Amino acid sequence: MRLAELVAKYPFLQDNLPFWEKYLQSRDELHNLLGEMVNEAHLDAAGFFQNLNEGKPLLAYGTVRLKAADVNRLSEVFCRMMGIPHQSVVLPTPLPLFEDLPLTADMAGFVAAELHAAIAAFAESVISAEKEINWLEPYCPICGATAGMALITPSGKKNLVCSHCQSGWVYLRTACGLCGQSAERGSTVLFADEEPDWLIEVCEECGHYLKVADMRDRLPDIISYPLHYLTTWELDLTVRGQGFEPSLFAIFSRAGWLQRAVAN
Ligand SMILES: [Zn+2]
Ligand SMILES: [Zn+2]
Repeated sequence: MRLAELVAKYPFLQDNLPFWEKYLQSRDELHNLLGEMVNEAHLDAAGFFQNLNEGKPLLAYGTVRLKAADVNRLSEVFCRMMGIPHQSVVLPTPLPLFEDLPLTADMAGFVAAELHAAIAAFAESVISAEKEINWLEPYCPICGATAGMALITPSGKKNLVCSHCQSGWVYLRTACGLCGQSAERGSTVLFADEEPDWLIEVCEECGHYLKVADMRDRLPDIISYPLHYLTTWELDLTVRGQGFEPSLFAIFSRAGWLQRAVAN
């Protein structure tokens, strides 16, 4: 499905279409550039799989390194494609977990966060090409951030999607995808008639809810996970007023900041 078709189906996305077009194209371009910059051997996929049981994400091992000149090149291309002034971005090397990334609350911080996310997503694409990532932790096996949404694959497995880098991993079906609490006292599953291909996991333990795209009956055409998430506002109505917080993709607040900055 193309972006225009998605907007025809969900007209409320119209206002944000220019942003998403630029954002998705620039992510693709960063991915292409990273293919030339990152030595795939240095990602150490074999070591990653050996270390999976320790619960440490890839970036905790300090294996991903980029030259300052390459980071600057990524920033240049990203800013040009997003239509914002070029930002001089310095990323720590080796690349840290997302929670350890120093971020300023300005345009440079937005760019640094997005470059970090793109590098983490690139690493995930290299690693998951080797084999499926099964991971027993409710945080991203690459960058360490929490999940933005989940999906149930046609074979019935629950996958979580990282709220920061959008990497995916196979997780325990019955545990809360946000805090790991097991279902017996943890998450409750809710449904909304308006969104038959989605369900919501509500967790009393952490007070959050997670949107889950159920792909067992119908395989949706997903352009991007955050955009797919945005088509489901009716799900939020189902849990409104019950005091639970939604899981969100980080790009939503970053994009809101960017739009405010452009408007001023
Ligand atoms: Zn991640
Ligand atoms: Zn929870």
